[in-house]
Amino acid sequence: MKQKILIVEDEQRLAELHRDYLQQAGYATECLMDGMLAVPWVQENSPDLILLDLMLPNKDGLEVCKEIRTFSNVPIIIVTARVEEIDRLLGLELGADDYICKPFSPREVVARVKAVLRRGFQQTQTDQALVLDEKCHLATLEGKVLDLTAVEFQLLSILAGRPGQIFSRDQLMDRIYTDHRIVCDRTIDSHIKKLRKKIAAVSPELELIQSVYSVGYKYKKP
Ligand code: CA
Repeated sequence: MKQKILIVEDEQRLAELHRDYLQQAGYATECLMDGMLAVPWVQENSPDLILLDLMLPNKDGLEVCKEIRTFSNVPIIIVTARVEEIDRLLGLELGADDYICKPFSPREVVARVKAVLRRGFQQTQTDQALVLDEKCHLATLEGKVLDLTAVEFQLLSILAGRPGQIFSRDQLMDRIYTDHRIVCDRTIDSHIKKLRKKIAAVSPELELIQSVYSVGYKYKKP
């Protein structure tokens, strides 16, 4: 299936340019021109990446980014018209994954999109003790293969992709069960429990997956 990219951009010419290049690169796209529409769309459609303009009608990109981060870790690339704005944005710690400054070439945008989409995978790859091979769904810890179910692998991959970040049970469920949501919180807990057991069997002293009381789970780098 094609990866889905949401373009939030109120300059129609630019939005169309992004759309054309990203489609050519093999992505499915959706364009929204109004900041107010972005958050509900993301909740409904869970895109793989968001290209987010800062200056938008009705709700600006900063606000959109902050709201999305309350429920989703979807990669976000912020597009700004001023290069000097980027330092300030970095200081705000919005949780964006990258920044692009206008004017830019559409090719550059495609290259950044590809790089950001690849990044989660590479991060877990460079983790010394834990190696996740997303293509083969194979996890090795300290050189030993972890015999994980598909769901356990997904959970580990999501958590390890963002060390230190707390994921609520809802967030984890949304990412794993994209089609059916008739799954209760306990399901995640039970998968996590099994996952921890398997990790402990290989390396009892490592506590990779930590519970955050009444919030959710996070991954701690070994
Ligand atoms: Ca704009």
